[in-house]
Amino acid sequence: MAQNQPLIEVRDLVVDYGRKKKTRALHGVTFAVEPGETVGFIGANGAGKSTAIKTVMGFVFPTTGEAKLFGYPPSDSRSRLRVGYLPEVALYYPFMKARELLELYGGLSGMNRADLKSRIPNLLERVGLGGKGESLLRQFSKGMQQRLGIAQSMIADPDLLIFDELSSGLDPLGRHDLRDVLLELKSRGRTIFFSSHELSEVESLCDRVIIIHKGRIVKQARVADLMEPLNQYVIDFRLNGSAMPDAVAAENPQLENGIHTLNLRELDLYTKLLGALSDSGCEVIRTSSKTRSLEAYYTELVRGEDAA
Ligand code: ADP
Repeated sequence: MAQNQPLIEVRDLVVDYGRKKKTRALHGVTFAVEPGETVGFIGANGAGKSTAIKTVMGFVFPTTGEAKLFGYPPSDSRSRLRVGYLPEVALYYPFMKARELLELYGGLSGMNRADLKSRIPNLLERVGLGGKGESLLRQFSKGMQQRLGIAQSMIADPDLLIFDELSSGLDPLGRHDLRDVLLELKSRGRTIFFSSHELSEVESLCDRVIIIHKGRIVKQARVADLMEPLNQYVIDFRLNGSAMPDAVAAENPQLENGIHTLNLRELDLYTKLLGALSDSGCEVIRTSSKTRSLEAYYTELVRGEDAA
């Protein structure tokens, strides 16, 4: 694979289900996931997330267009050597123990017994299933199965992790633990692509979001680029005989009835100018902030699409 090549690449993907009565699940979807990125894939139920993910994994064949993993088509076994995958619905053999399942998947990924033996207890611990290695999977709750599915995808320490419905079945504590797992994967430079309905999770963890609606990508953007223009930070102040700091003047505060008002977009700048105003002896009368959530952005975007 060439360096800096996207780990996932999907181009003009069209997927139809059914023979006689066709359902078009994807209408020409194009996106890429670059090395080291954490990308959230969001959309309503039925929007096409699983279909796109399954096509990338080679479980669904595109009607037209193409998908590539590590630069290879999904039909090429080299494409899946360094990917961990959590399916939307993970069904595991109920008669197996958690350790055995991880041994099975690790073995399929080419890991030897010694590596598996040392890795499995730590991995179970990391996903909140410490000490459950010898428990039968039929005794696992939905949340425990999901945790195990996440461990399964991580068993061979892959470079790329693809999670379909990442938080499915997890309670708030489970989601909290998962956040730590993802942050750790991120800090080790792993590339993560996941679909989720937990938009606050996507907002706080992801570098980028891809929004799909009715089989079409309606937005792809860096989370910071999406959210920052929606945020607003306001400072009202009086000079009270002091000179206005240059950094404040550069932002063109509006003047009305002796009160200057600064309207800012960035939190860093807001913090910096607040400091500059108080250092200069100006009187800060009022501060306020309006921040928007990804959820609010998403809802508005999708309503707009539907109205159009
Ligand atoms: P999401 O993962 O965003 O919920 P899906 O990819 O599962 O969406 O579904 C996209 C569309 O494809 C939906 O209209 C769904 O009903 C349809 N679909 C998904 N899987 C199948 C299938 N196996 N056979 C027929 N239609 C399907």
